[in-house]
Amino acid sequence: MSLDADGNASPAAASDGLVISRGGMAALVDVLVRRGFTVVGPTVRDGAIVLAELRSADELPYGRGVELEAGRYRLRERSDGAAFANSAGPQSWKAFLHPSRVREWSADRVGDEVVFTADQVTPPRYAFLGVRPCDLRAIAVQDRVLTGGVYRDPVYEGRRSGALLIVVECTEPGATCFCVSMGTGPAASPGYDLVMTEVVDEDGHHFWARSGSPEGAEILAELPGHPADPETQETARAGVAAAADRMGRTLPEADLRELMAGTLDAPRWDDVAGRCLTCGNCTMVCPTCFCTTTEDITDLTGDHAERWRLWDSCFDLDFSQLHGGPVRASSRSRYRQWMTHKLGTWYDQFGSSGCVGCGRCIVWCPVGIDITEEAAALHDWTRSGAPESAPESP
Ligand code: SF4
Ligand code: SF4
Repeated sequence: MSLDADGNASPAAASDGLVISRGGMAALVDVLVRRGFTVVGPTVRDGAIVLAELRSADELPYGRGVELEAGRYRLRERSDGAAFANSAGPQSWKAFLHPSRVREWSADRVGDEVVFTADQVTPPRYAFLGVRPCDLRAIAVQDRVLTGGVYRDPVYEGRRSGALLIVVECTEPGATCFCVSMGTGPAASPGYDLVMTEVVDEDGHHFWARSGSPEGAEILAELPGHPADPETQETARAGVAAAADRMGRTLPEADLRELMAGTLDAPRWDDVAGRCLTCGNCTMVCPTCFCTTTEDITDLTGDHAERWRLWDSCFDLDFSQLHGGPVRASSRSRYRQWMTHKLGTWYDQFGSSGCVGCGRCIVWCPVGIDITEEAAALHDWTRSGAPESAPESP
């Protein structure tokens, strides 16, 4: 139950929520825009469902689904007109919370002096519409990494602090999804302001909406709809449960941290290194990857310089450059670093897995490398008589 600032339950929060129609979804976007939010949600662009600013709910991908496989993404038509029956697209919310390019400062020669100016951009107040449960958990992971420790990122904090999160539970997992394995979906966990479940049945096309915060409850109270009836709730819950049963992929049922730590010398790393192009796509699309580098640029006159922060990837050769050369010179060591960090050492650093099972790295890998397949191969290796304490190699 959500409480307001005085600790009272708001009418919407105290109820079982509201059933809103497609018109109610249009009203939701209007209410958010009126409240000053920059609304970002899924929409069709360039042959994919991307995240972009929405001016109206008509821009949602009604009637569009996706077909996913390792290294493959295709849009398809849906006869039911559903807007959210499609799984993760190429972007995640980190594109807005932790942007790929940020100018940190600029410097100008003024007379005999150099004047530095820090970039202090006031970010928009975002309302993220259509956050999938796995991506909600990914935002929680980035919260821990970028705001929860000694090194706090003011850019992320500024964008995240005012963001309104509207989750839509999954009823249509992709063939590359494995959120059930990671315990991150398809039902929503706490942390949202509003949560919705899309239902298309003989009674029409509607959304069961519930609040998770006082602000979510206020917004819900402004929407047209009717109190959620038991039949709609049951149909919605059944849709989410069926999605869990249709999950496309799974990770081995093992302690993944132990699995990663115990397979550092497995021959499988050579196998995957023979396929991996070290392109870094998997890190760019991953909703939890957070590494950045800096780049300084100057204009031709030498009177103006800028420092930019850019996304970086542990697949880049320069990423591990220390005195004398890169620590991880081979693609074997770079792929192993990425995967063992995601599934293993992330626990040591941040207390959780670095993977939420969204499947993006599988879909957007140009050669179709599949983290679940690699984990399964490592698991098989441990069960087929791997040396008990294999020496670690670079
Ligand atoms: S696993 Fe695939 S996406 Fe990742 S770096 Fe290798 S080739 Fe690129
Ligand atoms: S490692 Fe792959 S499946 Fe896991 S969160 Fe990142 S992109 Fe998604």
